[in-house]
Amino acid sequence: MAKPKDKLPMEKILVRGQHSNSQILVGESLGNLDRYLPDKNIFVLTDTNILKLYGSAWDKHPCLALEPGEESKTLAAAARVYHWLMEQKADRSSFILGVGGGVVCDLAGFVASTYMRGVGFGFAATTLLAQVDASVGGKNGVNLDGYKNIIGTFNQPQFVICDPAMVKTLPGDEIRNGMAEVVKHALIADKSMFEILEQDPTAIYKLEPELLNYLVSRSVHIKSGIVGKDERETGERRKLNLGHTWGHAVEKALRLPHGYAVAVGMVFAGEMSVHRGLLGDADLLRLKLLLEKLGLPVRPSGNTQTIYEILEKDKKREGSHIHFVLNKGIGDVVVQAIPLAEIKSFIS
Ligand code: ADP
Ligand code: ZN
Repeated sequence: MAKPKDKLPMEKILVRGQHSNSQILVGESLGNLDRYLPDKNIFVLTDTNILKLYGSAWDKHPCLALEPGEESKTLAAAARVYHWLMEQKADRSSFILGVGGGVVCDLAGFVASTYMRGVGFGFAATTLLAQVDASVGGKNGVNLDGYKNIIGTFNQPQFVICDPAMVKTLPGDEIRNGMAEVVKHALIADKSMFEILEQDPTAIYKLEPELLNYLVSRSVHIKSGIVGKDERETGERRKLNLGHTWGHAVEKALRLPHGYAVAVGMVFAGEMSVHRGLLGDADLLRLKLLLEKLGLPVRPSGNTQTIYEILEKDKKREGSHIHFVLNKGIGDVVVQAIPLAEIKSFIS
């Protein structure tokens, strides 16, 4: 049995949403799930991988396990869950618990927000990406016809358990995926977190709970601080798109995992920032080195012209300009509308 002194303190972070608040429980154990579940009928959504690994933690509640992967983020999968909830006689007073990565949390949040006009929900986030990103901000939704997150709502989970022990069973590329968003948060708002990452970039792959909890906690604070000022993405929230404008085009063109594409996108934004006189060459080099040491790509392994053509169709484009998040040194960013023509000539 673990001695009490071996136990790490758990941190509760309150995230204020427009309609409701959310509690992010960093360092909490999945084993303490019952402390957070309301006294209601609970219905659990997960995927088959997670069910095998952790299902015993919620075996007293009815559970539906979806196929793992992005294919489960569809209206068809949502319909399957609605039918299951009806069969189970779930009503307006029921509560949905999503246990999983971004896919499960996005789908569970969407279904909970729409079933019978909305029931309560909470998450146990099982991937690093979900802990540092998907758990905060209240965005949920499904894809349609290859377009990501085109249907969804803004609605906060009542709680999110971020258990570092669950990250231990994740495949390595999934951890790198999450690390790209961690680096993004450091670049946006936390120079000292960036420096800690630089000191020993591969330390994270030892998966020590102290470091994991620190990175998740800092990410949640940074993201929730920004979302709190702008829940519906009109101004401040755009900062969180650092690396994502070019990154989404890279993701689509080269079918890279999200975090890998964001890493390439952050380097592109860094290069644009140097080009526009906002960032020094030395800081750009630091970014590239850190990403490389983390095992993330810094260059697209494909034709930049194809990526540019996808960027031109970006839904966030406004006329002949596109909003880009650029670096002002490390730990600060600025949003600028850049003419597409400038990006085109920059690439060539
Ligand atoms: P994200 O969008 O957060 O990257 P996904 O929901 O797409 O995550 O999950 C990625 C993959 O990792 C899926 O195959 C899922 O079943 C698996 N997975 C999620 N959490 C864990 C975990 N803690 N341990 C092992 N595999 C996991
Ligand atoms: Zn992202």
